[in-house]
Amino acid sequence: MDSNTRSRSDNLRDLSKAELHCHLDGSLPLPTLRALLGRADLTPDQVEAPPRCKDLAQYLEKFDWPLQALQTEAHLSRGAHDLLYAMAGDGVQYAEVRFAPLLHTTQGLRCEEVVESVLTGIRSAQSEGCATKAQLILCAMRHHTPQQNEVVLQTALTFRGSGVCAIDLAGDEAAYPLYAHAALFRAARKENLPFTIHAGECGSVDNVRCAVELGAARLGHGIALMQDAALMKEVARRGIGVEMCPTSNLQTAAISDWASYPLMQFLRAGIKVCVNTDNRTVSATTLTQELELVQRTWPQEHVIEILTQNAFDLAFA
Ligand SMILES: [Zn+2]
Repeated sequence: MDSNTRSRSDNLRDLSKAELHCHLDGSLPLPTLRALLGRADLTPDQVEAPPRCKDLAQYLEKFDWPLQALQTEAHLSRGAHDLLYAMAGDGVQYAEVRFAPLLHTTQGLRCEEVVESVLTGIRSAQSEGCATKAQLILCAMRHHTPQQNEVVLQTALTFRGSGVCAIDLAGDEAAYPLYAHAALFRAARKENLPFTIHAGECGSVDNVRCAVELGAARLGHGIALMQDAALMKEVARRGIGVEMCPTSNLQTAAISDWASYPLMQFLRAGIKVCVNTDNRTVSATTLTQELELVQRTWPQEHVIEILTQNAFDLAFA
């Protein structure tokens, strides 16, 4: 690394940043994971996805360890606490951290207890002076039933204004189309609870269209949007944010190379794009690294400025 590269990366780290798409489970720092699992021998390749997975499902396999680690109140608090410090070290001033509370109930916690525990971890980091402020996004899951996801919505409403700012839908997009969960988002809309939806990560432009029609304020990934120019216009017109996660998108085969990555295409269409890590540990990245990647690949003027400003503008809280 020459001195120019080093100072560029320092500059990006010191830049005040917001991160809107970051999963708690996929972003647990490795030392935290080791401590929570009592597995000092856990190696990076056990928790990091390969640079090129064959599909999203293979990427999602790496969540087994963190999900196993995050099944008690104390562990959930510790995980959120440690993630916040990792974000602070990365220059993240404001974060929206997301997770699926029902995936943390295998040892008997209730959905509300899971959320309360994560909030406790965030509050404890903040009371110690951690520089990152955070809100939570609760993820409903594509493979869960409407009844299960209704519990997530009700929990989000209970904690709205006291740490939870929105809901999301996550999971294997190729196996479970979005329209099956339309009722959930209609109910959220009735309650004026904002939402983002993982859509268009796996090539389905129909999922993106459906998310737009349902009233999503933001799209998670949104890569498939590039297939439909009219829909791109509509997303720009409505001011819908697109939460792009470059490293993760290449890993999950959402795109095959940077030449086909639609970041500049979206920006030129007037779409509010922001850049995120998705999963700091599973994708072995930081927000600083994602911005460095952007700067290297698309060195056009003002791109970093626009992306970082968009992230603050698109925040739910
Ligand atoms: Zn995601």
